[in-house]
Amino acid sequence: MKVLKGITAASGLAKGITCLYTEKVEENIPHYLIESERVAAEIERLKEAYRKAHNHMDELHGISRKMFGPVDEEIFKAHRMILEDETLFAGIGGLIRSRLINAEHAVYDTFSDYIEKLKSEGAHFTELVHDLLDIRNRILTSLGSIPGHFECPVGERQPVIVVAKRLTPSMVLTIPREHALAFVTEEGGFTTHATILARNYGVPVIFNIDIERHIGCGDKVIVDGASGKVIVGPDKSTEDYYASKIATTSLRKSYCVIKRADAAKTKRGRRIKLSANISTPAELKLLKDIQYDGIGLLRSEFLFAGRDQPPSEEEWFKTYKDVFGEVGSKPVVVRLIDIGQDKLPSYLSLPHQENPDLGLRGARAIEIFKDLYLAQIKGILRASVYGDIRILYPMISDLSDVVLFRDIVKEARAALRREKEPFRSRIREGVMIETPAAAIMAEGLLRDVDFANIGSNDLIQYTIAAARGNQLIEKRYHILHPSLVKLMESVVKTARKLKKEVCLCGEIAGFGEFYPVLLSIGLTSFSVAPSKLGDIKCDLLFEEKYDKSVLKRFYELRSKDEIDRFILKSRT
Ligand code: PEP
Ligand code: MG
Repeated sequence: MKVLKGITAASGLAKGITCLYTEKVEENIPHYLIESERVAAEIERLKEAYRKAHNHMDELHGISRKMFGPVDEEIFKAHRMILEDETLFAGIGGLIRSRLINAEHAVYDTFSDYIEKLKSEGAHFTELVHDLLDIRNRILTSLGSIPGHFECPVGERQPVIVVAKRLTPSMVLTIPREHALAFVTEEGGFTTHATILARNYGVPVIFNIDIERHIGCGDKVIVDGASGKVIVGPDKSTEDYYASKIATTSLRKSYCVIKRADAAKTKRGRRIKLSANISTPAELKLLKDIQYDGIGLLRSEFLFAGRDQPPSEEEWFKTYKDVFGEVGSKPVVVRLIDIGQDKLPSYLSLPHQENPDLGLRGARAIEIFKDLYLAQIKGILRASVYGDIRILYPMISDLSDVVLFRDIVKEARAALRREKEPFRSRIREGVMIETPAAAIMAEGLLRDVDFANIGSNDLIQYTIAAARGNQLIEKRYHILHPSLVKLMESVVKTARKLKKEVCLCGEIAGFGEFYPVLLSIGLTSFSVAPSKLGDIKCDLLFEEKYDKSVLKRFYELRSKDEIDRFILKSRT
């Protein structure tokens, strides 16, 4: 029996036989020279491969929509943009012409150049690198290279533990949902597009496992998302232990299905506010049959990304008004666009910055993008007539940032008055607490606003000085780092003292196993992805281990391993 320790990207338990999924695309890419008369034909071959890759992507998009609804549109938008990138295509054609090489060779070299350049820019572009690799492989496959496939034929017929060096969105989507018991990979991350898709399967996802050395095809394996363990060839007692655990979990799940329509509560009966994080209005469909307390975070970036001109006031207004058609009288917290180098659409530009995460983002980009904010805020104010809309300011470091946003709100109000457009005079306003500065200065900020949202995704990166999405960091530190928890605890205490609402809306709120700690710091309001709402509501129903003593023990932990062990113990 071998016990391997990885990083959990989606929790859960699974037991089954492994099936290795490999991509042979990179091996044996044909390299040859062509006659100059063949150039036109070779470019035609390239065009045909692009067409096929496009069709394949449309097919996968259709599969994704059928399986999960329209929730992963951003992933396909990103892939489409790469396939439609004229410079990239022209670069490949240029290589065929100038070096008289075959299309596969030119595709490989051109994409490699792009990828190397992006890698040298740092961890910031990890996701784009993965997308480029996926698209490159799709084009190469269309040119005749061997596509990704299961090493053992069983994977296509019965449920298996899918094992792969790395997952790409195409790989995930070619595996039918009912065939995947879990995903185990060497490379990965919490926020890669492939992980987001795999998480939708509702099965455990674990990365950072040395597959080549330890796992083969057809191995009997147990995947324990709570501890991040992959147990290869379990002995009898381990197998029995997990068999009974899996049985209890499925019993729990059936009990929780009945409770979906009830408000969230802990086992001891403490009422918890559980809201949804929404990135596209299409995700609202996922909330149809479950009770929830509102939209805790409506990310606005979806409306201005992937298009060639900024959204108009009318478009913002209509989007928010339509949201109320779905959520009724529940509150909707709209975050103003959190613009930055990483989320910059083609029609906007920022001066070059060495380190975009520490540069012009959020409030610091207000002056450059004032018209964009003005249109959005006017849209929000107009939609206030239709429901309980609240405004959330992103990336705040001190009160001066709030004042900058407020000046635009004032201007928007004045403009609407002149235009005789109705809006509510009182709209609640809140701040994102996602910089250590905001967490430390929470008292001053909260005194001036109605509520705070804790954005732990950014707060952790700025607290431990490690870029979001950097896999090295994910291996080294725990996402529930005690420094982050201490900052959050102080924000919660301040909010309670000032009688202001505080909600945790970062990704850590989507991990049920963190709740003993999150509840112990006094948090009673969370906002999670719609696909996570049911699981968290269920976990809360069984949660009773939260109090000051949990926190005292948690603060004594000094490393990722110690935190992992602590979390595992608090679950058993
Ligand atoms: C966060 O930083 O935790 C957050 C919710 O914002 P985003 O993930 O959109 O940066
Ligand atoms: Mg953030």
